[in-house]
Amino acid sequence: MLLGQRTGDARYIEWGKRVLAKWDEWWATHPEANHSCGYTAMKQFAAGEKQAYELRENIHAHTFHMALLGVAALYNATGKAEYRDVVLGSIDRLADEWVFLTGGMSSTERYVPRRFYHPRNDVEVCPQHTWILLLAQALEWTGEARYAAEIERDLFNHFLAAQLADGSNWSYFTPLNGSAQPPSSPNCCNAAGHRIAGRMPVYLYGLRDGAPTILIYTESEATLHPPGLPPVTLRQETRFPSEGTVTIHVQPESPTVFPLHLRIPSYTAGAKVQVGDNEPISAKPGDFTVMEREWKPGDVVRLSMSLPLRCQANDHVLAVVRGPLVYAYFQDAQEDRVVFHGRRGLYPEDVVLHIDPDRPEEGLKEEPASDELLGPALRVKGVIRARAPIFATSRASSELPGQQEQTLSLLPFANQGAIRGEYRVFMEYIRPTP
Ligand SMILES: [Zn+2]
Repeated sequence: MLLGQRTGDARYIEWGKRVLAKWDEWWATHPEANHSCGYTAMKQFAAGEKQAYELRENIHAHTFHMALLGVAALYNATGKAEYRDVVLGSIDRLADEWVFLTGGMSSTERYVPRRFYHPRNDVEVCPQHTWILLLAQALEWTGEARYAAEIERDLFNHFLAAQLADGSNWSYFTPLNGSAQPPSSPNCCNAAGHRIAGRMPVYLYGLRDGAPTILIYTESEATLHPPGLPPVTLRQETRFPSEGTVTIHVQPESPTVFPLHLRIPSYTAGAKVQVGDNEPISAKPGDFTVMEREWKPGDVVRLSMSLPLRCQANDHVLAVVRGPLVYAYFQDAQEDRVVFHGRRGLYPEDVVLHIDPDRPEEGLKEEPASDELLGPALRVKGVIRARAPIFATSRASSELPGQQEQTLSLLPFANQGAIRGEYRVFMEYIRPTP
């Protein structure tokens, strides 16, 4: 399909259409195949008539995403609305029903019924790679903020958690709770990691209705070429996502009237934008704010966003989120790591946090993270549960540590590749008694 689009040779596009027309027949001929599914099944999924795990038993997330990218390319080449509807309908269902809090998805790379999901199960980089490509396609078609928000969710959390701190490699498997597999030989996931890391800059900026747009905040600079306007350089000065203020330097080649689009994330409780010394104005979270005026070289926009703490919880397990960052408890980032001879004397499942998920700001105290880590760190009280009576005699077992109160530290999950070891995104908790 891409070859047909690049060369303008219609034979390649025809070939793509003929392949798609054969899909249902091929899948029926090979009942053992489960990497993707027939086109009719895809249409049913997009229309809400089938569940993801009913597309094919143990359907392979990454390959299913790739098949959707093929259908997307077919729409781009032919303009047939049905193809676009199938892709957008599938993306919306995956985002609403199958993406984790951290942006990763699938269990051992399979979309399966929910009873098989467990936070210890493997999460791979590959399906995130093709998921981000799908989101970028949806963003290009629709210009809707929610697709940029999903790219941000994955990049700032699960995707970066899989990467080693020096950028040299990716873990094949990075579960939500457990430990990431140490990278060794070349594999599909470290290849996918490099491809998304290489593309990361293109997800920060874009043109929306032809106008310069900031999609994701982070220290960066880009020169955009909006059609019919002089080039516009945008530079972000910020410590986002650790802090919620962004200074945007707007540098058109010459003074020009154009609308500047800024994405205001839905997690901010309040955002204000201020152009130069003008009065700051409120911007609505969850959408783009558009500022149309004559922009001159040297203009500055100040965006300030609150990054409130929130919890995703059931009656005994929670994850802590601050702005776009999902936090984790890393055993090796605690003051007392309890490590002897390369082994551990304490695991994250031994720890119970004292947090009220309805009022997380009461139990969590922000403090700077160490220099090499993304922060802030969050201090929280908790207990380390008494050990099981593991020795043969009760006298020996009585000398094991009993329940102990501790002050513990949580850090953004994205630090995984710098800290390593045992961690949990979803921690046991109890509400503190007043
Ligand atoms: Zn892989």
